[in-house]
Amino acid sequence: MTDFAATKALFHLPQGVIYLDGNSLGPLPKSAATRVSKAVSDEWGEMLITGWNKAGWMAQPGALGERIGRLIGAAAGSTVIGDTLTIKVFQALASGLSLRPGRKVILSDTGNFPTDLYMAEGLIKALDQGHVLKTVAPEDVAANIDETVAVLMLTQVDYRTGRLHDMNALTAQAQGCGALTIWDLAHSAGALPVDLTAANADFAVGCTYKYLNAGPGAPAFISVAPRHIDHIAPALSGWLGHAAPFAFDLDYRPGAGIERMRVGTPPVLQMAALAAALDVWDTADIADVRARSIELTDLFVTLVEAACPGLTLASPRDGYARGSQISFAHPDGYAIMQALISRGVIGDFRAPDIMRFGFTPLYIGEEEVRAAVAILAEILESRLWDRPEFKTRAAVT
Ligand SMILES: *Cc1c(COP(=O)(O)O)cnc(C)c1O
Repeated sequence: MTDFAATKALFHLPQGVIYLDGNSLGPLPKSAATRVSKAVSDEWGEMLITGWNKAGWMAQPGALGERIGRLIGAAAGSTVIGDTLTIKVFQALASGLSLRPGRKVILSDTGNFPTDLYMAEGLIKALDQGHVLKTVAPEDVAANIDETVAVLMLTQVDYRTGRLHDMNALTAQAQGCGALTIWDLAHSAGALPVDLTAANADFAVGCTYKYLNAGPGAPAFISVAPRHIDHIAPALSGWLGHAAPFAFDLDYRPGAGIERMRVGTPPVLQMAALAAALDVWDTADIADVRARSIELTDLFVTLVEAACPGLTLASPRDGYARGSQISFAHPDGYAIMQALISRGVIGDFRAPDIMRFGFTPLYIGEEEVRAAVAILAEILESRLWDRPEFKTRAAVT
């Protein structure tokens, strides 16, 4: 059984703050601060260029990918980190389309995060082979899977509502029609159990700065099913995905296995933070995290609905049908969220009217849930949010 008091003690949480935004940016694991500082002074500072070999910087993308792979049920040797999630989406999509040359449809849904859809649009233009991006409502995905689909590209947990797609069923259905699947695990990795092997998923991508707590700008990951990797000629054919980067050949040859999904120089300092953040997962069982997350989110919904009549639940009511966040809609959601933040309860806002609250049992418990709802109810009752200062939109919402 995971000791959540012990995991909470591993994080730096600012005084007077109830942090319900770990779904956007996880808080600082205390060990990450020391690990990064050591990487700066002992490795970069003392080793200089020799750190690539001496401190093992060059091998870390594979080693860290392996640790993430274990959290998401990926086969050994099928996960690597690097770049940003946006780039990893592009790589997965380009790979998937190249494996289904006769087909032209990328199927996704209108709940997908825009960058995933934008990358599909950009890739279609660059390829110029008549591909189309078809986006349907999340509940209509299954009905639109047919023999024209090359790749089904979905984000498992909807970033706005938290609605969870059935990865196993949709993967099986897509593969039954000869299509490949790309699962974006941005709001899944570290939030709920994922088993890519059991789902027989073809590709998975995700970021490490949300529920994995590796810090702002932390690298993304990509997993490719072992049955595909040797058949992929990477579209982003960077030198660190080359079979022999230091041979400095003039021609590209893909590296062995998942190494070919590397592109350029890895972010060494961010990898130090990621390594420390992953240590937290050595003490936590994702099944316990999931069970506790459902308890906490259920409690939040019950308390908010009892105390805040103006808010409409925008997430599935069934805990098993959603990820680890709860969203409520309100026409003045932006101002209410700003008022909440001014009172130390940090969630976020997603246009047009969604207030989003992430629940991460590693450091959030029942006490924080109750206190957050009490503050929310007070803000609504006093109309504290109805002030100009809470209505000016910042660049990041
Ligand atoms: C957070 C998120 C992203 C962000 O991509 P970056 O390249 O890290 O900025 C992409 N896709 C989904 C589904 C997300 O939730």
